Amino acid sequence: MTNAHYEKYKDTIKKVARRNYRKRIVLLSEFLSDKSCNHCGESETICLKFYPHDAEIRKITKRVGTNPKSRKEIFHLIDESKILCSNCFIKVDNDLIEFI
Ligand SMILES: [Zn+2]
Repeated sequence: MTNAHYEKYKDTIKKVARRNYRKRIVLLSEFLSDKSCNHCGESETICLKFYPHDAEIRKITKRVGTNPKSRKEIFHLIDESKILCSNCFIKVDNDLIEFI
């Protein structure tokens, strides 16, 4: 892609990238929307994380498209994770609480 081309379509490219990014993030929010923390019951979606694969799941979600194959990779990691809120996530990470 030439610079002139990029300059001309810069706004469109950014807009599309942003829209795709949001679409991918929405996938996680939708998944978490009816979930709650396995430890304390917190159900506020924005507070919820995947333990221990949160960083990886979010990284893949941002990188890959929303096609079924990419989703499969994400859901495989989600399957192996527990849903925890940010507080409990930190506590588990520091061995303050334990999971059976
Ligand atoms: Zn919690």
